Amino acid sequence: MAPEARPASVVVVGAGQAGYETAASLRERGHPGDITLITAEGTLPYERPPLSKAYLKGPEHCSDEQLWLRPATYYARHSIDLVEGTVREIDPVTCTVRLADGSGYAYGHLVLATGARPRRLDVPGAGLPGVHTLRTAEDAAALRASLATARRVVVVGAGFIGLECAAAAREAGCEVTVVEALDRPLGRVVSAPGAGHFTRLHRRAGTELLFGLGVVALHGDGRRGVTAVELSDGRRLPADLVLVGIGVVPRTELAAAAGLAVQGGISVDARLLTSDARISAIGDCAAFRHERYGSRVRLESVQNAVGHARLVAERLTGTSRAYDEVPWFWSDQFSTTLQIAGLDTGHDTEVVIGDDPDAFSVLLFRGRHLQAVESVNRPADHLAARRLLDRGIALSPDEAAAPGFTLKEHLVARRESPAVAAG
Ligand code: FAD
Repeated sequence: MAPEARPASVVVVGAGQAGYETAASLRERGHPGDITLITAEGTLPYERPPLSKAYLKGPEHCSDEQLWLRPATYYARHSIDLVEGTVREIDPVTCTVRLADGSGYAYGHLVLATGARPRRLDVPGAGLPGVHTLRTAEDAAALRASLATARRVVVVGAGFIGLECAAAAREAGCEVTVVEALDRPLGRVVSAPGAGHFTRLHRRAGTELLFGLGVVALHGDGRRGVTAVELSDGRRLPADLVLVGIGVVPRTELAAAAGLAVQGGISVDARLLTSDARISAIGDCAAFRHERYGSRVRLESVQNAVGHARLVAERLTGTSRAYDEVPWFWSDQFSTTLQIAGLDTGHDTEVVIGDDPDAFSVLLFRGRHLQAVESVNRPADHLAARRLLDRGIALSPDEAAAPGFTLKEHLVARRESPAVAAG
């Protein structure tokens, strides 16, 4: 039997979305052995997306308990040993993990679901009181408390977390400025038409967006906290709260110290196995070979974390397959929902469908191949896009650009036509 097949005991490091889902799926699939779920956070496993959305609006919108993926009783009822502690070391020879308090856990299979940490701003003053990052429930509680009294907020980075926090701060009545080094928001993941929409949305709400500028220093002192943000063009923006949202760094140090391959994340194959067949890595920390794209990617989304976890649980209960799910993602800002299906690995044609400037979809093609669909307030397009991409149903830019075209009708027509080959 291969070392990873049907192990007696599974230890999961990290009880975020991916770690929790691994333990839950293993039990759902009838795994009979021990499951140990180790969390460095002093709380029950919880979901992160509300932290930059409803949670920031106040406890009446989202309480701490509402973040929990399951109540405490769930873990006992399903014999999942939820252990609070930080894993300091993996010994791949004795198949043991060791915690900071000296305790050890032996594994038949080890799942690394260590996630990612926020990238820090490397400028003078970055450690001043009033400067926040947002990853954990603890971060969100601190940010929410500061927002209650803040007047002038500067958000560094116009990525998803930066823009969602900017929206929450604006809704809380703060003056908000977003500073972004690139020439548009969401630069890494959203097309120009999509980015244009979010620029207008935030400006319409009264937020100042500054592009093509860096932050060179944060000013203030230990008593008053941050008071100003100095930009690369010499300007100083007054601020009593700064949110730094400049991306994350995968947490790979445990894996690297154990001698596992690490490159832009913990390196895993299409079955999410590391270079040690007794160790998997999943979720935000894993750089995996995505069968659908034939390349190595690292994704940061709930769907990816859950999909990875389920695949590993399947493998550990006897069914092995390669991960090939169509990626999808969402973001809520003000009353706008953006949903993205697929992965844009470099498009050459954009087709916009929908006449409403506040409700449209952008279809991204490489040649005649549909790569991804961004939907702004068009949930039906998003669902149809996921199905089209999943089934590999062909769609050309010309077809998409035809008057009256809808993704849903295309899906229905092609599903009913046996002559259509998968693209
Ligand atoms: P994590 O959730 O980061 O969990 C990893 C856990 O491992 C952490 O609790 C960490 O403390 C623990 N850990 C690390 N090292 C150790 C150790 N040595 N010992 C013990 N424990 C350890 N995705 C979407 O799809 N849509 C959204 O709208 C969205 N919004 C988001 C908003 C915010 C504010 C954030 C932060 C993320 C958002 N995401 C969103 C991304 C999504 O939440 C992540 O992709 C997902 O949580 C990844 O899950 P994970 O389990 O891989 O990692």
